[in-house]
Parts: sequence; structure tokens; C-alpha cells
Amino acid sequence: MCNGSTADSGPASPGSSPGRSTMKTSLIATLLCIVQVVAAQNVNIQFFPEKANHNRTEIVIPDGDYHVLKADLHIHTMFSDGTVWPTYRVQEAWRDGLDILAITDHIEYRPNKQYLNADLNTSYEIARPEAEKLGIMLIRGTEITRQQGVVGHFNAIFIKDANPINVENPKDAIKAARAQGAFITFNHPGWRMDACRFSPFQKEVLDEGLIDGIEAVNNHEYYARALSWCHDLNKTVIAASDAHDPIFNQFKLNTVGLENIRHRPMTLIFVKDNSQEGVREALDSRRTLGFFDGKVVGEESLLKQLFDVSVKFVQLKTYGKNTYYRIENHSSIPYRLKIGTGEYLLFPMSSISISFPKATAKVDVSVLNMYYYENTVPVFSVKL
Ligand SMILES: [Zn+2]
Ligand SMILES: [Zn+2]
Repeated sequence: MCNGSTADSGPASPGSSPGRSTMKTSLIATLLCIVQVVAAQNVNIQFFPEKANHNRTEIVIPDGDYHVLKADLHIHTMFSDGTVWPTYRVQEAWRDGLDILAITDHIEYRPNKQYLNADLNTSYEIARPEAEKLGIMLIRGTEITRQQGVVGHFNAIFIKDANPINVENPKDAIKAARAQGAFITFNHPGWRMDACRFSPFQKEVLDEGLIDGIEAVNNHEYYARALSWCHDLNKTVIAASDAHDPIFNQFKLNTVGLENIRHRPMTLIFVKDNSQEGVREALDSRRTLGFFDGKVVGEESLLKQLFDVSVKFVQLKTYGKNTYYRIENHSSIPYRLKIGTGEYLLFPMSSISISFPKATAKVDVSVLNMYYYENTVPVFSVKL
């Protein structure tokens, strides 16, 4: 816009009369206006803003007894060994349809320290305004990172300050996090291991009640044994990206096709309310499922709740010996169903047509892409 602001663009040159100076200034202002108009009409520029990817992919899960929030509770930035800036993590989370993000930079491993020698809370502080602008719940966290297989890695989320957790003794570090009220998870138990097992240190911290959750899914790995641990030891099921590079390099949200489904692993959290307290209550109460690679893992009762709010059997007409139904999927979760001898792919937000002999009162539905207790597939009885 030409608003004449250049009229104030400095004193007249020495020796010039005031009248000539004003004329000169207004001439410059006019020329600037012309330059701006020409720039706006530059025929050598074609704009295509509609091609920019401004869309968030919503992950739809209808409400049931609870509202389901989508969370990635383990991720890194340049402030540890990640390759992206904290605000970018928030933008990725927004685009991937998440509600909650916890940036959990390593305390002990910060290869960028020579460039970013900052306080351990810095990645959270940088990310927070962006999270607030985009409506992402940012949970303060950190990763206690010691030798895998001996001590291992533990995430502490809902902390208040990461700095006091930076202590030599690993148990003291975990206890320092606990003293702040942290929710503590045992991370990637199978990563670079020949088997999922507890080391003596890990057994010790478990026995002392210092572990609240276990990652059954981390990055591209699913640890079936860890899922059974969650059940047997009353621990919360966590699925997380643990991404170090941009999410797009590792996972792509694409709900077309079940085998080809690629999205970041996430924890589905069944909350009573959307606050941080509500999320914490749900985590403490173990109301979570892991969603990764088009599969869902967790307690059988929660899998049933997810299935019930997502999948509806709608009765249509009876012709001859058969009654026809439509099975509708009202969620972004895909389902691979086995009913009798038939297998059916129920894509996100889609329906299939099916018939049963008339007077069939109920059918048993195996959901082949859901696991509880290692790789056990649930079988749900559906009334028709
Ligand atoms: Zn780790
Ligand atoms: Zn990590």
C-alpha cells in the first residue's frame, strides 16, 4: 500500500530549499508506489497457494465412555540428537492429527551441545508458544539415557524442570524425576537386544514402583513381549515415534490401504476430560492403546471399546435365506475382520456389505489387526 510514509524519510540535504525538498520527497514516494504496483502485477509471478499443504489430517475416533486423544510422548529435537527444531515438532504433530506431544530430549546425550549449550528445558520452552497457537497440548518431558540392556532409557514426562534430573546415578535420576511427580516409562525394551527381558537394574526400579508405563511400540518396532508385561505388571501401554529426523522421512500418514498404511506410532489416550490432569489420570489408570502401522494393541477391554465406537452393523433387508447388513467404520482406524471363514478389510471411514443366514442372532468377529497379550487377536461377539 502507498501511504506516503516516505515523506518522513529524513532531513533535506544541506543547501536545498524546503519547497524543493518536499517536491523531491513526494516524487520519491510516487516512484515507490509505482514500483509496488508493478511488483503486485508482475506477470512473471504465478501464485498457487492452494498447492501448499496447510491441512491437518484428522484422526477420527467417535466418543464412547471416553474421549480419545492422540499422543506422541517420545520425540527428539536438535537439543539432543534430533535433526529438527522444537517448533517443527509441534507443526508435525498438528499436521499428523495429534492432540498431545511430549518432547523428550536426552539428558546425557547432546551431540549438538557445542552449538546449543542450553538449559535442559530449552526445547520445551521454544516449542510451547507454537503448541499454544496450534492447540497442541505440550507435556514437559525428558529421556534419561544410559547403557541399553544394562540400565536402559527411561522417559520422564509431566516433569517441572529437567535440570535436577541430570545426576550421575541412574536411579537417583529416576527418583529426581519421580520427586517432581513424573510419569516414568521404560523405553524401547527390545531395541538392539536379542530378547525382551529386564536387566537387574530394570527389575529393581520396577520392584520399587518407579515405572508407570512401558513402550510396546517404538519407532518401527513392536515388542509383543512388552505388551504382555503391561498386562501382567499393570503398566500403561505406550506407543511412540521416538523420531530423531523429520517425521515425514520416517512415517507418512496415509490411510489408503491397510498393508501400506504408514503413520507415526501414537498412544491413544481415553480421557474423561481434555486437560493435562485428565491425560495424567488416564495414563495412571492405564486407559491407553498403541496405534502403529495400522494395528492397535492394548488391553482387550479397551480394544473392545474402540471397536464398539468405530464399527456399526446396520441391518438392511432379508432376501430368501439371507439377511443383508452394512458394516460401517466411523473411525480413522482400519479394521481387518474375520467373520466365519471370510476376511474383510474395513478401511477408515468406509463400509462393506455382508449377509448372514436369516435369524442369525450374533456373530463372532476376530479383529486381525488388534493384539492383546503378545500377538493374541481379540474375538468380539456382535449382536445382530
Ligand atoms: Zn532411547
Ligand atoms: Zn528417544
